[in-house]
Amino acid sequence: MAIDPQFEQNRELEGQEHGVDVWGPTDPPEELGIRGTHVAVDFDICIADGACLEDCPVDVFEWVDTPDHPESEIKVNPTNEDQCIDCMLCVDVCPVDAIDVDPGRAGRT
Ligand code: SF4
Repeated sequence: MAIDPQFEQNRELEGQEHGVDVWGPTDPPEELGIRGTHVAVDFDICIADGACLEDCPVDVFEWVDTPDHPESEIKVNPTNEDQCIDCMLCVDVCPVDAIDVDPGRAGRT
């Protein structure tokens, strides 16, 4: 299952963690929701492949620890989403379609 590109309509904004928005539902450690808004990563899909982090030309992503999550115990957090230049490389390389980037979405500062 890929990230829902309509998450702003379909989910509730619960707050922020690691400097980015958290879109619920969440029930940690098993359910962590979508993180970020302009650059959004579905933590419940992310398998910590890391291609997005390696390929992003402006270093938007940073690893965060997510112990006891069923898919992976680290995730790529879009910590620097305000630097995103909308090249879409991360969206293209993610093997599990966990990332959605939309320059028109709120969250770009
Ligand atoms: S769209 Fe490009 S610049 Fe933006 S987070 Fe993805 S790889 Fe980085």
